[in-house]
Amino acid sequence: MPLNISAIKILRSKKRRRSVSARLVKYILVVRAPENMPEVRLQEVIAGLKARIERKHLKEELNKSENLTSRAEEFNRRYFENKLKVNSIKYVTGQESKFGCCNFRTGSIRISHRISSMPQWVRDYVIIHELAHLVTPDHSQVFWGIVNRYKLAERAKGYLIAVGSFGDLAEA
Ligand SMILES: [Zn+2]
Repeated sequence: MPLNISAIKILRSKKRRRSVSARLVKYILVVRAPENMPEVRLQEVIAGLKARIERKHLKEELNKSENLTSRAEEFNRRYFENKLKVNSIKYVTGQESKFGCCNFRTGSIRISHRISSMPQWVRDYVIIHELAHLVTPDHSQVFWGIVNRYKLAERAKGYLIAVGSFGDLAEA
């Protein structure tokens, strides 16, 4: 469910020097701000805080609605003989330029929220692509040899190219 912030309530305080805080109480964003902060500046800060809260909410909702961990475990068994050590795999928000990202060293995989609205077979490709980076961080022949075990890999690459910004997911 998208977050529905219905109102913003601003509480100005003389005690506050510089920082602005925002907390969601039911559907009201309660903002505490320094007494003398100019209105224009305050509105900018609030917009930033609101966006951050919305991103965090979206991230939590996505990870609740789709269990990427069990999907990755399934692919680990099916394509990698269950040999991969996946530390974590999660949707993230605020990763605009890349659809997927894998930390070879820590075994952490981050999938952009932009992937979440794509068809299942494309999402699966992205997961397999990032899992394969746990074998090798590059895009070598070995790498593509692994990824192409997924029958729809080429089609998924085509889909991502058509969508536009795809980072390294659609490299040849
Ligand atoms: Zn890659």
